[in-house]
Amino acid sequence: MEDKKIIRGKTRKGKTEKKIGLISKIGFLRILFFYFLMAMMSFAGALNLEARGLEAGAAASTQLVLLGTGTPNCEPDRAGPAVAIIVDGVAYLVDCGPGVVRRAVAAFQEKKLEALKPERLGYVFITHLHSDHTLGYPDLIFSPWVLGRDKPLQAYGPPGLKKMTRHLLKAYQEDISVRLYGLQPVNREGYQVRVHEVKEGLVFQDERVKVEAFPVRHGAWPYAYGYRFQSRDKVIVVSGDTRPCPELKVYARGCDILVHEVYSAAKLKERSLEWQRYHQANHTSGEELGKIAQEVKPGLLVLTHQLYWGATDKELIQEVKAYFPGPVVSGRDLMVFKGIRD
Ligand SMILES: [Zn+2]
Ligand SMILES: [Zn+2]
Repeated sequence: MEDKKIIRGKTRKGKTEKKIGLISKIGFLRILFFYFLMAMMSFAGALNLEARGLEAGAAASTQLVLLGTGTPNCEPDRAGPAVAIIVDGVAYLVDCGPGVVRRAVAAFQEKKLEALKPERLGYVFITHLHSDHTLGYPDLIFSPWVLGRDKPLQAYGPPGLKKMTRHLLKAYQEDISVRLYGLQPVNREGYQVRVHEVKEGLVFQDERVKVEAFPVRHGAWPYAYGYRFQSRDKVIVVSGDTRPCPELKVYARGCDILVHEVYSAAKLKERSLEWQRYHQANHTSGEELGKIAQEVKPGLLVLTHQLYWGATDKELIQEVKAYFPGPVVSGRDLMVFKGIRD
């Protein structure tokens, strides 16, 4: 409308050609400005999402909750490795590092995630049997039972998990007997564990989620897995502990959220040669992870199990961002994610 008016006005003055040229330039600049505005808005939106960690409410869609982002270094504000993937009110845990049940209760209380009430913790998928990933296993077996879980825990994991479970139940035999045969009102199912030792491929499926295990490469461990969760609305992949490996790239390609372990490439150089060799064989540096993400293109990359050795979150993210331009969040306990494509 405005352009037409201007054309009429200027035609009356008899300088048609020159003015039309000017008008089309103005139109072009307007379009340019419009696109610039749109780009700035989406950039600001992305930054904002990253800044608040894509935190989600208790929506119906699949959610990822970081229960523990720690390592064997025992940082007091990070529980041992554990995440929960919540689909339609049911929580599927990956790993059970120390503190797992208390972190689940914290997530229930602070984030109103009913699925993380202790008595509702019924599934765990263990990546490997390193103590930092399994010290919370007896916690996950016994605490929810005492608090009312009346079904056996379903535990999936590498060969060796059956033996570990048997030993743990034996270790706590006295506790089980006293609770079962003393005065305590308690059910007879909730402390039991159904163990499923898994191989690569589909390991679990119900009406909510399909879970695949894939082998990763973690030093001398004969069996270490990552897990790929596919729900109605999302694919979430958890790396477990691993050095860069082709299997992860296959299973994580194009996923919505990739939760991946990481260490600081810059700070590794300050460690002894023995430790450098160890970490290179067991874990993934920020730079290596950036290259992996560049190939795999996750909708969102969440760093966990961060080995900082004095580096900051910003520095870790910078290592990744040198290769991967997409959204990256350095995880902290109790962050909740929906994914950037929602
Ligand atoms: Zn670990
Ligand atoms: Zn490990």
